[in-house]
Amino acid sequence: MKPSIDEISGKTFDFVIIGGGTAGLTLASRLSEDPSLTIALLEAGPANLDDPLILRTSQYGAHFGKEGYEWGQSTTPQVHANGKSFYWPRGRTLGGSSAINFLCWTKPPLQDIDDIERLGNPGWGWESYEKYLKRAERFVHLGDDGQLVPGLTANGPRPPEQGPLVISYPQTLENFEKKAYQTLKNLGIPDAPAPPAGTYACAHTFDPISQTRTYSTTAYYLPVAHRKNLRVLVSATVSKIVLNHDAESGNVLATGVEFIHEGKKHIVHASKEVILSAGSLKSPQILELSGIGRKDVLEPLGIPVVVDLPGVGENLQEHVFTGVSWEMREGLPDLTLDILRDPEQLAQQIKAYESKQPSLFTSGISGFTFQPLTTYTPRAQDLYDELSTKITENMDKYPPGLREQYDIQLERLEKGAPAFELISFPGFFSYPNPPEAGKKYVTMLFASNHMFSRGNAHITSTDPLASAALDPHYFEQDFDLKSLVEVTKFVRKIVGVKPYDEIVGDVAKEINPGPGIQSDEQLADWVKSSIGSTYHTLGTLSMLPKDKNGVVDPTLKVYGTKNIRVVDLSIIPLHIAAHTLGTVYSIAEHAADIIKESLTRT
Ligand SMILES: Cc1cc2nc3c(=O)[nH]c(=O)nc-3n(C[C@H](O)[C@H](O)[C@H](O)COP(=O)(O)OP(=O)(O)OC[C@H]3O[C@@H](n4cnc5c(N)ncnc54)[C@H](O)[C@@H]3O)c2cc1C
Repeated sequence: MKPSIDEISGKTFDFVIIGGGTAGLTLASRLSEDPSLTIALLEAGPANLDDPLILRTSQYGAHFGKEGYEWGQSTTPQVHANGKSFYWPRGRTLGGSSAINFLCWTKPPLQDIDDIERLGNPGWGWESYEKYLKRAERFVHLGDDGQLVPGLTANGPRPPEQGPLVISYPQTLENFEKKAYQTLKNLGIPDAPAPPAGTYACAHTFDPISQTRTYSTTAYYLPVAHRKNLRVLVSATVSKIVLNHDAESGNVLATGVEFIHEGKKHIVHASKEVILSAGSLKSPQILELSGIGRKDVLEPLGIPVVVDLPGVGENLQEHVFTGVSWEMREGLPDLTLDILRDPEQLAQQIKAYESKQPSLFTSGISGFTFQPLTTYTPRAQDLYDELSTKITENMDKYPPGLREQYDIQLERLEKGAPAFELISFPGFFSYPNPPEAGKKYVTMLFASNHMFSRGNAHITSTDPLASAALDPHYFEQDFDLKSLVEVTKFVRKIVGVKPYDEIVGDVAKEINPGPGIQSDEQLADWVKSSIGSTYHTLGTLSMLPKDKNGVVDPTLKVYGTKNIRVVDLSIIPLHIAAHTLGTVYSIAEHAADIIKESLTRT
């Protein structure tokens, strides 16, 4: 299965895919279904096959800072967030971020996806999104007798799908989760049998039979790893795309890819296409290193501008979250992830897991709520009016394309799009005050999904192994901050409402932000320093018309090139109210069809 470097270096394949993450492996698997095509895929990280640190669930953050799993990047200091740099872990292993993520399988609102189409991308609306998502997923469920039965989807019963990615529900749900759910109901938030508006139990990329994570490696790659027309090389970091000129079309032609393997430079040739699937933070870096991007970024570094494309690395959008944590009432039998900090209890849980008993490793982050800002604060209209006035006044200062995005975002706010999210987290997960040994906690995380601030990701050196400067411009639009302050106030109310009061019981047991933080100024300051990335960065190679700062067209081809496509999360031009994993599988499945169809036309 593992190719030698001699099978790749200097050889020619029809397609060379850069990045063996979520999208890259999905696409490689689908393209290699056609035995007449040859595909080489280069992944910077190691294979990490059969690795318990990847396969065992509920190990949130266990890969962070570990070179064999993730890139260890951080943002630049954030001017509007107390000058802090924020840690931005992303997968650097076969499977990419699908190997280290938090497994939650959420779906965006139909309208958010239709908005992508509205921005000038025919064929990318909800209908095709759903078609390709269904092609990826296979819901399974265990009955009371422990046997596998056709599963329930988030939208109700349906026969099992045929997609390779097994999705299921966590097998263990602690009592306090049910109480959190009931409390939100008592606060007026409805059940959501048809997500995403309301509260619902989230499915996971989890196989209930093997009790392991399912991800692009297990679902898409391993079952087809024997194919002779597919070569996947790990520990191969691409430094640039090799470019030439296509006399016929006048466009730039990619003839191959330069990469570093075991300290040496190599080239692999592409006879049809080079496909970038290195993720939202690395795909723009590779384009820039190859001379495709903004003049003002490339020229100071001495990189000849092959295609002047101002949208490369721009329009960066992110989700952020923070959380309120409380100490759990003493004596409650509920298990929380906090017990895993005790080595003895950790060993017990691993033992239970290994003997296929219910354990914390068969649980998950379960209770998700998506609601509009109006649910959380009576100030929603004021915040909207203030924002709308500011945006109207500044319209002529925004870069091309942003005006259309803001029009849609304002419309979403006005119509009450469910863009603010609550997540019931089974343990301690907040800042800055730390947990105490031997205690259990509950956290209500909350996230903002349609942020107005726009950032960028650009190289600052020609070193392919250096990180780009990653700058989300957090809170540059102060609506993003003020709205989170309002949601914090709502979340704090939860402890006073039944039956959540049975879990916590005492408001003074709020650990973060802590009872001393009360005024709007104090809360804003806490939000600024306590937020984290939800690891959902997108937009850096947006699919938009070229004059709207687009980088790829609706066939995912990079403008000005004959045969470079981008297939990963970076192409989504406007953020969605959902976690992004499902969207990436849908993009990759869709891309496979686009590419296969293009071959029948040539
Ligand atoms: C910690 C974490 C938790 C998350 N939790 C969730 C969740 O619970 N639910 C959810 O829906 N989403 C979650 N996400 C987001 C989701 O996993 C990602 O949006 C998605 O996996 C991104 O897919 P991608 O193909 O765009 O990029 P990736 O899957 O990151 O793939 C990019 C690949 O390219 C490789 N690469 C990069 N540069 C090079 C190079 N120069 N040469 C060769 N290879 C290269 C990388 O090593 C990586 O393998 C989470 C993400 C993270 C990081």
